Amino acid sequence: MIQLLFALFIGLAIGSFLNVLIVRIPKGENVAFPPSHCPVCDNPLKWWHNVPLLSWVLLRGRCAYCRHPISRLYPTVELITGMLFSVLAMKLGLTAEWFVTSLIFSLLLALSVIDFEYYAVPDSLNFTALALALAMPIFIFGEDWITGTLRDFSFYRNMLVEGFENAAIVAAVFFALGLFVRFLIKKEALGEADIVIAGTMGAMLGFPLVLIAIYVAALLALLPALFARGHMVPFVPFLALGTWIVYIFSDPILKWWNLLYA
Ligand SMILES: [Zn+2]
Repeated sequence: MIQLLFALFIGLAIGSFLNVLIVRIPKGENVAFPPSHCPVCDNPLKWWHNVPLLSWVLLRGRCAYCRHPISRLYPTVELITGMLFSVLAMKLGLTAEWFVTSLIFSLLLALSVIDFEYYAVPDSLNFTALALALAMPIFIFGEDWITGTLRDFSFYRNMLVEGFENAAIVAAVFFALGLFVRFLIKKEALGEADIVIAGTMGAMLGFPLVLIAIYVAALLALLPALFARGHMVPFVPFLALGTWIVYIFSDPILKWWNLLYA
């Protein structure tokens, strides 16, 4: 219980930082400077205006100076990130794998919101997620080394090689799929950003889970795509959601898969 609360607080804090990334990166602003300020009246925020979730509720969703409404997006992103960190803590415990996996899903969340709002995905966040996913065995090695529970070195090496292989295969498949769809409908369907996210998914999930995640993402995107009729539907949020669902339910899904195909 205390572990889940700890995970929740870390997640809320990271979520607060995600909001900064979501607001500033698409505009090409520096993420560290200037300090947080109201976008309308420009007054710098005091720390008690900046407590995740709580400040938004206490200020009743308005700026403390000019009373201009503050978007519901901020507390929503904080809440989702907090829940993401605690749900993953239930699955992984408070380990290095937990923290890095939570960071990757946080980045996928930020990418989803930015894709939804701007129809664009910043490379900086996208490649950071991929790098974290590929480097996972190194973080696990570091933790094992610190806690004195090192396994045979081949364990980490195989994991590292497998991650790179899976990322490359899934990214290549997405690239080919993009070419094929463009040939069919004469329109850009899968962007560069989707290919990078596909690589992240491959490294995180491996086979066959990554295929199921892509399938789930496509299914989830189908309905909005039908309703959008010609409007662009951002695909990144669905890829992120598919990855999340399959990652959380990986054990039952693999059990079911093995029953069917093994
Ligand atoms: Zn203001």
